[in-house]
Amino acid sequence: MPYVYAFDHKHRRPPMEMKDLLGGKGANLAEMTSVLGLPVPHGFTITTDACRAYMDGGWPDGLSAEVSKHVRRLESQMGKRLGDADDPLLVSVRSGAKFSMPGMMDTVLNLGLNDESVKGLAAQTGDERFAFDSYRRFISMYGRIVLGIDGELFEAPFERAKHASGVTSDADVPAAELAELAEEYKAIVARELGTPFPQRPDDQLRGAIEAVFKSWNGARARAYRIRERIAHDLGTAVNVQAMVFGNRDDRSGTGVGFTRDPASGAHGAYGDFLINAQGEDVVAGIRNTLPLAALDEQFPAIYKELMAIFARLETHYRDMCDTEFTIEQGKLWMLQTRVGKRTGRAALRMAVEMTRQRGWKITREEAVSRITAEHLDQVLHPQFATSDVTVIAKGLAASPGAAVGKAYFTADGAAEAAAAGDKVILVRSETSPEDVHGMIVAEGILTARGGLVSHAAVVARGWGKPAVCGAESVRISGASFTSGGVTVREGDVISIDGTTGQVVLGEVALTAAEPSAEFTTLLSWADAIRKGRMAVRANADNGPDSANARHFGAEGIGLCRTEHMFLGEDRLPIVRRMILADTPEEEHAALEQLRVAQKADFIEILEAMDGLPVTVRLLDPPLHEFLPSTEELEIKQATVGLSAEEQRLLAAAKVWHEFNPMIGTRGVRLGVIKPGLYAMQVRALMEAAAERVAAKGKPRVEVMIPLTVTREELGLARTWVTDAIAEATKDLRKKPEVTIGTMIETPRAAIRADEIAEEADFFSFGTNDLTQLTFGFSRDDVEGRMMAAYIEQGLLKRNPFETIDQTGVGELVRVGAERGRSTKPTLKLGVCGEHGGDPESIDLFYRVGLDYVSCSPFRVPIARLAAAQAVITHRDRGGAATAIKAAQSAARVAARAAGPAKAAKKAATVKKAATVKKAAPAKKAATAAKGPRGAARATRKAAGRSR
Ligand code: PEP
Ligand code: MG
Repeated sequence: MPYVYAFDHKHRRPPMEMKDLLGGKGANLAEMTSVLGLPVPHGFTITTDACRAYMDGGWPDGLSAEVSKHVRRLESQMGKRLGDADDPLLVSVRSGAKFSMPGMMDTVLNLGLNDESVKGLAAQTGDERFAFDSYRRFISMYGRIVLGIDGELFEAPFERAKHASGVTSDADVPAAELAELAEEYKAIVARELGTPFPQRPDDQLRGAIEAVFKSWNGARARAYRIRERIAHDLGTAVNVQAMVFGNRDDRSGTGVGFTRDPASGAHGAYGDFLINAQGEDVVAGIRNTLPLAALDEQFPAIYKELMAIFARLETHYRDMCDTEFTIEQGKLWMLQTRVGKRTGRAALRMAVEMTRQRGWKITREEAVSRITAEHLDQVLHPQFATSDVTVIAKGLAASPGAAVGKAYFTADGAAEAAAAGDKVILVRSETSPEDVHGMIVAEGILTARGGLVSHAAVVARGWGKPAVCGAESVRISGASFTSGGVTVREGDVISIDGTTGQVVLGEVALTAAEPSAEFTTLLSWADAIRKGRMAVRANADNGPDSANARHFGAEGIGLCRTEHMFLGEDRLPIVRRMILADTPEEEHAALEQLRVAQKADFIEILEAMDGLPVTVRLLDPPLHEFLPSTEELEIKQATVGLSAEEQRLLAAAKVWHEFNPMIGTRGVRLGVIKPGLYAMQVRALMEAAAERVAAKGKPRVEVMIPLTVTREELGLARTWVTDAIAEATKDLRKKPEVTIGTMIETPRAAIRADEIAEEADFFSFGTNDLTQLTFGFSRDDVEGRMMAAYIEQGLLKRNPFETIDQTGVGELVRVGAERGRSTKPTLKLGVCGEHGGDPESIDLFYRVGLDYVSCSPFRVPIARLAAAQAVITHRDRGGAATAIKAAQSAARVAARAAGPAKAAKKAATVKKAATVKKAAPAKKAATAAKGPRGAARATRKAAGRSR
């Protein structure tokens, strides 16, 4: 395969689809030239293959010969030669990766100028000033970018030249001074490098191409790729193109134009231009630009031509395009186009409007595919109105949206300030359940430690509150913190951006959250696409959050973390009483109080989610999380002393203290040593469900056991649950619908899912713990300190707590799903780890056959979109998901035909205790033959569960 293609090469495929090879810029230049026949200066593209070969083993064999051949062809097309002393050809050398990385890699302009050709340029243009200005610009640009010379060395002589000629504007420096400057610049190069400035255009070109290849791995580019999740191994293409000049005279100019407004999505061309200027001048904002409409007054014919090109581009790309153009002495040239970047608001408006476009249309599926999670985040949460901010600290982007407020360092301080009417940002080293009252009132949360699934991150996401977590540079000391040499004291205003992880001193203006009518329309299309294929639920643990989740489109609760119900200021003392109880009577009394409180919460949740499934997880975290910190109590003991109650708390905290609480007495293990706790929770839940039935509601309860590792464990837990259900519902005529399942959060549970499924009606993959335990990465510790270094050095491509590790943790999910369903084809499968709101992870969950994802309420719209996109992707590819789903459905049908399995008998036991809907008549199985999805639905229904 060649390494170089001319823009006018006739590719077999549309070049715009060849971005992998030609890069985005090269692909579109080729499309504009070879397909659309637009006025594009001639040139050629050196492929990303060449860049990858260069990164692997240096300058590729044969590349020089190919470049040479294309240079000669370019010279003959242009009728000019590089380095010619009479009429020289000049070229630009620009990077162009598959994904746009604006400003992150290098560009060299005016290449081909040397001591001879500069005279040719002067003669040809009759403009000596222009020629020498181009030459001195080229030497400094080449010196800086290709030869690695400090750019500041070129600044001082230029300032001196301006001073010497008595001018203030760059444009007024006379030709003679510029010619001298060129000499001086060459002397700087010779002094710095010990060799003269390269005069041979072929050497210049080779140097520039290599510099662009190298800039792919520059610090700026790497950092950008990490943020934008672009792979490091793609490489960049290099575009070599004949220069055209917008700075020749007043019949010249340059500009950027969008085919519609990229900020609002409104119809009509939008952009800026400058007369007698180069592209850099427009982008750099040195001179005040004119709006594109003004072009109509200055150059009406060109304006008309440009508008016709815009219309062609939109029709051809079937999308909004952005362009760069240059006018050289009255002739229009297109230098670049691409499908334009846009704000979330504009993306939604354009996508919806383009389904109704006159002349050309996109389908609803295309519209759904064009929206990204970031677009939705932008319209769902306030954002910083400007990117021009001074960042004093950077942490993990833990919960999207931006917030401004006064820094407070304790939950009590935050609560007091908020009560006095202040807007507050709670700043903590890390948060714990004891901080919840401060978190509730805060506009946003900043922590110095903890990762994306730390307490602060999970709680903030659940509430849709901005949070920046694990900002390691933040050093908190009492009521102040320092970071980046700045000290922030209690009451100082700070701004945080949970979408980027930035922390800024002072108030940054925010944009408002504004979901539009198009937001609703587009998500309704997404829902239609994913209907019956992948449901979306929310993680919520109280009535208002559940109602909010439903408002965002949740189709049930996938995870109600009941421990969150124990956190309120009124509840915590009761939990502590239960832990401190010396006698069974005391424990029972405390549990009774908790039951009453939990029942009230459950009623609210079931009401908010009436008719939809609600998965309630029994208590999961280690009990010591509900006790005060031993350190704080010990300090108090040594200083002011402890009350009797505090002494008991300290003793209990010591008893319950564990070295590795995350893998200690938590989850179902807690149930084993305190069975009364789970019985109380189930009773509260079933009483709540019974009240909902009495109120003509339709509660659909799923009781979930956390952190199961063996079948035996789940079997035992199941008996507690069924006994409690039987007891709580014994007098009811109409029994609430209830199923019993478990979380799959450990590698063992995933691997032995076939056995565990014997005791479960459903699985919910807890991918937070599954990631923690598979990698052996503490979810509370490794992200702030270690993750950035791992990602920077390419040891991990992604933070696995954010996007599922496809081949490790994802593989365990696949194995767990497959083995679970091998035992019980009707097993309902979901995921409730934070990955349930991450688009890439959702794609995997769909592929491995999960029925639903569950995520925080504010993430629900993104999950609805991502689930639809997964359906579209895999239907278009006809790929794995379809095959897996068809196989699963066939297995379910077979299971129905074979009669109830052992596991189904277990379900029947529960059915007696509580009721699970009557088995559907056999003829339902016949419906199954209608198609894989129909079969799946029918089989699930037959087993007593439906979505
Ligand atoms: C999980 O582990 O993925 C999960 C949802 O549980 P938690 O985050 O509460 O441990
Ligand atoms: Mg867990």
